[in-house]
Amino acid sequence: MKNSIIFKISGSFILLFLVVLFPTGIVIYQGFSGFYYNEVRQNINKLSEQYAHSINNTNDKEFISMFESLSRLTRTDIFITDSKGNIIASTGVEGLEEGKKISTKNNNLLSRGQTINKEYEEPISKAHHLMAGKPIKNNHTFKGSVFVLSSIEEIHESIKKVRLLLTLVGIGAFFLMLGFTYFLSRKLAAPLLQMEKATKEIAKGNLGVPVEYSSNDEVGQLGKAINLLKVELKQYRDSRQDFLASISHELRTPITYIEGYSKALKNKLYKDDNEKVLYLDTINRASLQLKGLINDLFDLSKMDIDQFQLTKQQIDIIELAESILVKVKLRAGDKDIGIEFIKNTEEAYLYADALRIEQILLNLLENAIRYTDHGSVILEINKSKKFIGIRVKDTGKGIPEKELPFIFDRFYRVERSRSRQHGGSGLGLSIVKKLVELHDGTIEVKSDPGKGSEFIVSIPINQKVH
Ligand code: ADP
Repeated sequence: MKNSIIFKISGSFILLFLVVLFPTGIVIYQGFSGFYYNEVRQNINKLSEQYAHSINNTNDKEFISMFESLSRLTRTDIFITDSKGNIIASTGVEGLEEGKKISTKNNNLLSRGQTINKEYEEPISKAHHLMAGKPIKNNHTFKGSVFVLSSIEEIHESIKKVRLLLTLVGIGAFFLMLGFTYFLSRKLAAPLLQMEKATKEIAKGNLGVPVEYSSNDEVGQLGKAINLLKVELKQYRDSRQDFLASISHELRTPITYIEGYSKALKNKLYKDDNEKVLYLDTINRASLQLKGLINDLFDLSKMDIDQFQLTKQQIDIIELAESILVKVKLRAGDKDIGIEFIKNTEEAYLYADALRIEQILLNLLENAIRYTDHGSVILEINKSKKFIGIRVKDTGKGIPEKELPFIFDRFYRVERSRSRQHGGSGLGLSIVKKLVELHDGTIEVKSDPGKGSEFIVSIPINQKVH
């Protein structure tokens, strides 16, 4: 249901209201009626007590002549019985006139000194009274009893009015609360509904319109989070587009070489065997570049979805570095560069993925050789208590300061032509950075244009606990 949150909030409020209102109404009603009944009951009990006492001490006949006026004065009815329960005097309540008799059971109770408290209903008019009867005793001898009756018709009327009033107040409060909760829940739900709309738009790919929110509460925070999500999605979409454009571009270059030179070979468009070998060499280099690019892309895609598994083991980085230097020296070929290895320890163990550490070292060393024409490349391994430091320093052209912040971005190249010429994909450093981070390490670069560059990697030793 579209507005179900409104109904949920209103429903909860109504339920809460009813749970509170009903018992409160019943308690007020019972407290109110109980109070009135008690008042009357206490009053007639007191009067009957006093009358019984007076009759005991005074001449009965005297009292009887008095009680009619007492009855008028106290707005009660009175009747007196003898010891057998016969009514000998009465102010004339219907059914309890002179000559009638009270029940033997009640008379017995009175004769034992007990009090009668009950409600009495007139047989014809059905008028209601509360009745209190007390025994008249003279020197412990039961002489009869005196009853005082008070009409409760008025109380009934007042209670009826109170009941009506309570019902009206309850209904009024209910509708007031209904309106209020509907208004409140609409106000609460409105931004949520707006956000629902906005997220549907995001799902459709429409990232233009931001969610508007005015409060700083949970709903406002949600709006803020959705807007942040939008910005991130937009950045992601833009960078993905750039990324795809770069990939197509990177793939197109070697493929164009392969296509062109293979066609030339097929059509025998070469002068001599030397040129043929040159063409084949170009095709070979282009396919190696493609292979490198595809491998790098594969690695990156796995890293992006966090599916890149490291196979960690105890490795000696000095030993690893020495074997890599052999390969690198071969690759350096006829370049006029010296390769130096500085180590401040004979062995440096590290709990890491050997293949990936090799990839890091190889990449940094190959870059150093690739972008250096004269001088030397230095690989330095340092060991501290908790970290292994790897420093690759060259005397190459260096990297301009304004390019440094982008050096680890995908497909970023300072020297496009030179990088391509050597089969660089422009992904090397971004992969190195990811691999270092996967080992919980850091990488930084310093460069002095014209003098050389320096890459400093620091990886925690992470000694495996046995
Ligand atoms: P590539 O495959 O192009 O070498 P990288 O990601 O490894 O890609 O490097 C990105 C860019 O950083 C290179 O194109 C190059 O311009 C620059 N670069 C990397 N290492 C060095 C270095 N040692 N000296 C100078 N420039 C470097």
